[in-house]
Amino acid sequence: MSDLAQTHQDHGLEALASTLDRFAFPKKFAVELCADCNLACSMCHHPDMKRPKGVMPFPLWQKCADEIAAVAPHTECWFSFCGEPLLEPELLVQCLQYGRSVGLQSLNINTNGMLLTPELDQAILDSGAHLIVFGIDGFSKESFEANRVGADRDVVYGNVERLLATRDRQRSDLAIQVQFIVMDDNAHEVDEYTAFWLARNAVVKVRRQLSWGGQRDAGYDTTDVNRIPCPWAITMMHVFWDGRVPRCPGDTEGDEGVGNVWQHSVAELWGRLGAYRDLHLERRFDELPERCHTCTDWMTGAAERLRPAREVPVEPTFQRLELTRK
Ligand code: SF4
Ligand code: SF4
Repeated sequence: MSDLAQTHQDHGLEALASTLDRFAFPKKFAVELCADCNLACSMCHHPDMKRPKGVMPFPLWQKCADEIAAVAPHTECWFSFCGEPLLEPELLVQCLQYGRSVGLQSLNINTNGMLLTPELDQAILDSGAHLIVFGIDGFSKESFEANRVGADRDVVYGNVERLLATRDRQRSDLAIQVQFIVMDDNAHEVDEYTAFWLARNAVVKVRRQLSWGGQRDAGYDTTDVNRIPCPWAITMMHVFWDGRVPRCPGDTEGDEGVGNVWQHSVAELWGRLGAYRDLHLERRFDELPERCHTCTDWMTGAAERLRPAREVPVEPTFQRLELTRK
């Protein structure tokens, strides 16, 4: 890396680090509605995931939503973490409606878009969701389907174009983003992709690849990079479908879990993660668990966003940090 590129990268990371602090409650709360997925994406840990796959019982979400609404209703709630939420469309809509009914102010969906239907478009538009993010990592059929393994490029593009058109026709407040994870084999398509989606009134998000706690080689050399506290660990709490809370999003099997939201409150479990956050914020990186030594995800907390010329609904996000992973 050139000295100039190095300086830019360090400034970007330090700017992100300057937004991090000792937060009393998670800024973001990721809910694994179901642990199954209909795809096997090249950049994702999910195809190798070993833990049991199930579906979150609705009362578990109700318990979390009630607490979040009482303590910090602006918390960004994200469906989903590991797994595809549109595999459980009725539960997803039920959870969104409940979240809205108790006053949650940031209800967000993260999906691969394959299973969207016209009926589900309308249910989501009517549910009270604030933002939906589609993981679409390619413009050509060839590069999209090489990375989004099991998906059909034309189906996903058609689904998202239809939802955008319906959203605009109905003047709905649903914010819609398409997310492009830049990899070696698709980087040349970013400009074409961006022009296509901006013309259809989607916000385009371009982000780096994740290592998922070091499980995937994201291709970054961290030797010359000034490390910052991990934005995921500092801002975000995750809950598996069965209520278990992993240490961080890199802990996809829950090997370093801190408890279960069936038995404990969100606040209590967030408190248990505090010692790790302190190590990050005090930059005592050597003392972090082994996983943090091979993980490069602390470098990938920020993303570039491009907005269409036309005014479109704005998503309610914490300090505009972009922390969706899929
Ligand atoms: S990135 Fe999302 S859609 Fe792709 S395999 Fe992982 S969980 Fe499934
Ligand atoms: S750097 Fe550490 S805390 Fe952050 S995602 Fe990776 S393993 Fe988790």
